[in-house]
Amino acid sequence: MLIDTYGRVATDLRVSLTDRCNLRCTYCMPEEGLQWLAKPDLLTDDEIVRLIGIAVTELGVTEVRFTGGEPLLRPGLVSIVERCAALAPRPKMSLTTNGVGLERTAGALRDAGLDRVNVSLDTLRPEVFQALTRRKRHGDVLRGLEAARAAGLTPVKVNAVLMPGLNEDEAPDLLAWALEHDYELRFIEQMPLDPQHGWKRDGMITAGDILASLRTRFTLAPEDDGERGSAPAERWLVDGGPARVGVIASVTRPFCRACDRTRLTADGQVRTCLFAREESDLRGALRSGAPDEEIARLWRVAMWGKKAGSGLDDPSFLQPDRPMSAIGG
Ligand code: SAM
Ligand code: SF4
Repeated sequence: MLIDTYGRVATDLRVSLTDRCNLRCTYCMPEEGLQWLAKPDLLTDDEIVRLIGIAVTELGVTEVRFTGGEPLLRPGLVSIVERCAALAPRPKMSLTTNGVGLERTAGALRDAGLDRVNVSLDTLRPEVFQALTRRKRHGDVLRGLEAARAAGLTPVKVNAVLMPGLNEDEAPDLLAWALEHDYELRFIEQMPLDPQHGWKRDGMITAGDILASLRTRFTLAPEDDGERGSAPAERWLVDGGPARVGVIASVTRPFCRACDRTRLTADGQVRTCLFAREESDLRGALRSGAPDEEIARLWRVAMWGKKAGSGLDDPSFLQPDRPMSAIGG
């Protein structure tokens, strides 16, 4: 098991497949000038599959989420999914994507064994999409979402980040649209993971703001009686249900005490938290010929050092050096 000193057990592995992306969301990447990871430093497909195999067979991981950067940009994605689906025990597998190109690959991903997708879409307005992502790809994302549902990658979840002055007024419209299309919408509070280090607590749209805005048009009742387990999203039944909406309030209502995550970056570093400033290198061990048991041991040691919380509330909080796109969200 991957256990830490606070008794938390990690069963959910987030794997970043690349730090590159075809969008430039303002809260995640700079417009230009971000240094990409060097190609030789990236894990190969074989190395990724081997590490996931160790996590699943030796360390108790039951869920694997592929992310990035934009994971659809990884040429070997379908085959990585297929090979992970053949592991015993077979992990549950999902993908977090911006949806650009999903129209083409949703069927193949489903056939390879992917269970679900989360597609990020912050706005229904193409011009706001362009301001948020610095690219004109709104239509691609909408088509990707439809293709995911048609391929059976369900429930299709939609992740939305609200940014002041851009899409902060869109929460009710996004929810009405998600209900109409049978997507499960989750709002994510903006976190201090932008490369410009421009995040300000005072300026961010909080879970409280989002819920107040939604309640102008919908009735919301807590789904879980305040018990959300390790799920980061607090979920509300909309207008009596069964439809739901989630809010991931990493900043204002952190869920660190129930965290069950471990993360692997595209260059083979284990991170125990999005906000961690320390990483543990597995790539070096892999490439120096370490056996599976040794790699599993290094991963356990990394987990043992997991901090109690993100530290966001601490005045001495420092952003991690990597931006979100290079950590893997
Ligand atoms: N490119 C894919 C995508 O956009 O879904 C996967 C990687 S992206 C880093 C994963 C998720 O992190 C997205 O839903 C994105 O909106 C979210 N995200 C990125 N930067 C963020 C930030 N600073 N605060 C909150 N969420 C963020
Ligand atoms: Fe790319 Fe996803 Fe970051 Fe947007 S949030 S820049 S789509 S990695």
